[in-house]
Amino acid sequence: MSSGWIHTIKGPVAVEDLGLILPHEHLFTDLRGPSVSDYAQADAEDVVRGLSANLAAAAASGVTALVECSTIGVGRNVAILQRLAEHTPIHLIAPTGVYRDAFIPASMRDLEVEALSEMWIRDLTEGIDGTSVRAGFIKIAMSDDGPTPLEVRNLKAAARASQRTGAIIGSHTIGGRIARRELDILEAEGLDLRRFIWIHAQTEPDPAVHLEVARRGAYVEFDAIGAPDQSQEAMRDYTLALVKAGYAENVLLSHDAGWYQPGRRGGVPENVGMRGYTALVTDFIPALRAAGLTDETIKLLTVTNPARAFAFVGEH
Ligand SMILES: [Zn+2]
Repeated sequence: MSSGWIHTIKGPVAVEDLGLILPHEHLFTDLRGPSVSDYAQADAEDVVRGLSANLAAAAASGVTALVECSTIGVGRNVAILQRLAEHTPIHLIAPTGVYRDAFIPASMRDLEVEALSEMWIRDLTEGIDGTSVRAGFIKIAMSDDGPTPLEVRNLKAAARASQRTGAIIGSHTIGGRIARRELDILEAEGLDLRRFIWIHAQTEPDPAVHLEVARRGAYVEFDAIGAPDQSQEAMRDYTLALVKAGYAENVLLSHDAGWYQPGRRGGVPENVGMRGYTALVTDFIPALRAAGLTDETIKLLTVTNPARAFAFVGEH
């Protein structure tokens, strides 16, 4: 009995064949946005050179699948992702969807909900940009003071695309006020909130809000693991609080790390540098263990939960 498939860049993979899954990372990200002339362009071999050591270290640490969250508006380039998927043993998952308002390309700004959802359904069921590479989930994003009217449209389109395909929606969401708005909008559209991930939940300091969102069924993702400027202790405590309250099945953990930035020498992003994908294994899991979590719970957080979240059930 299969419990489902993830749609990777190289095709469907049965979730029971997977171990550790990173639900939120970046490989190739163009934060200059879609208006620059060489947007999302780079030499694929230079990208492979830039990311090779970090991908090898992740594979050696036991990572079996990695979700690329760089969507339309911040550089999604399917040819480069295909080249990376050839290079690494890690299963890579590509997104459909679009980044926050300021990054939405002109060609997508005037679309109605239905046309936009059809575009995303095509990515999920047929392939991206004329290839047979299917997107494995829907990634959207809210402005810090959002959602803006276009972001509300994106939420509605995402709900429709999710309902018709089974794909999970992840949304970049800063703080609990916006998360609540999103859940209300998605619920009004009829979405089962178990098909939603609150990305960057650590930006909300009140654990009661994490709990409220988990109670409504959504995944709560703490995804700044290993980030030097973010409190690892806070994310550990938020995780422990949800586990203790009986919502271990709603927690997702990732680094939000990477990435190759086009237009930079060697692809190294300005200021932050290129961050690797191993702090979960080397630091965060040991900290959870030291705080009393069992191996069984840690497997739930890092293997079972992301597999369930990103799985498509039925025939592939
Ligand atoms: Zn991210």
